[in-house]
Amino acid sequence: MRLGALEAGGTKMVCAIGDEKGNIFEKISIPTLTPADSMPEMIEYFSKNNIDALGIGSFGPIDLHESSSTYGYITSTPKKAWTNYNLVGNFAKRLYCPIKFDTDTNAAALGEASFGITKGLDASMYITIGTGVGVGIFVENRLLHGMLHPEAGHILLAKHPSDTYAGKCPFHDNCFEGLASGPAIEERYGAKADTLADREDVWELEAFYIAQALVNYTLTVSPKRIVLGGGVMHQKQLFPLIRAQFAKMMNGYIKTKELKNLDYFIVPSSLRDNQGILGCLKLAESALKN
Ligand code: ADP
Ligand code: ZN
Repeated sequence: MRLGALEAGGTKMVCAIGDEKGNIFEKISIPTLTPADSMPEMIEYFSKNNIDALGIGSFGPIDLHESSSTYGYITSTPKKAWTNYNLVGNFAKRLYCPIKFDTDTNAAALGEASFGITKGLDASMYITIGTGVGVGIFVENRLLHGMLHPEAGHILLAKHPSDTYAGKCPFHDNCFEGLASGPAIEERYGAKADTLADREDVWELEAFYIAQALVNYTLTVSPKRIVLGGGVMHQKQLFPLIRAQFAKMMNGYIKTKELKNLDYFIVPSSLRDNQGILGCLKLAESALKN
């Protein structure tokens, strides 16, 4: 099988060719400009590679309900050029192959569950903490969609009593993304997040918010393992801080083998930034099977 994968992000479009076994033959990256600027190059790339199917993991919100009249659209995204853009339809018109569409973070969750650190588990989550916060949920061996798709980067958190920062999200005063994304850290401290590595207070507060979110996810979704990725998680000192705060907040309420070993339960991504593309290859494979 020759499969196409597209990880559609707000800053770049990563396009790759690979197979259902998780081999990536080649990969290119195109800046995310307007559809008129970015689409022709992507269509040309997948056309010349003679793919059998395409899997797309996209920034959102998106419409992924196949019965909907706007299926395959990027819908109410704040990235104006892409608002209400028929992404799947415009590929379908030119590629003549099956296409499967999901969120970028669901694709990453599927990549990890198929080839990475959550392989073999029927319930897991992937969370990216970068420019935004996004959450992919793999539960009972499939990606969770529900009404729209999870938008769990915007769950509301209790603010730390010492935190006077107003939050970065235009919709919520105290959501996870607004309090803990890379841009939130940068605005709160007035410095690039990667220059703050030595500031213990920065990562203690960051861990306080991440741990709260993970407790809420654990109690709601009941994942068997949680993977954390994205630019902010390059600060590896966060992992022990998050695990310690998580244990404190959970306060012994759940006593599963997974939660007895938080070094196992809360882990970094294992696929060196290929989790999204690998998930897209699996989406492409399932498009072909359908
Ligand atoms: P995106 O979310 O745009 O796909 P990233 O996951 O790389 O991209 O996230 C970018 C954000 O992560 C930026 O806000 C940046 O400040 C932050 N970031 C990137 N690298 C680091 C780092 N080493 N330490 C802390 N924060 C980082
Ligand atoms: Zn929000």
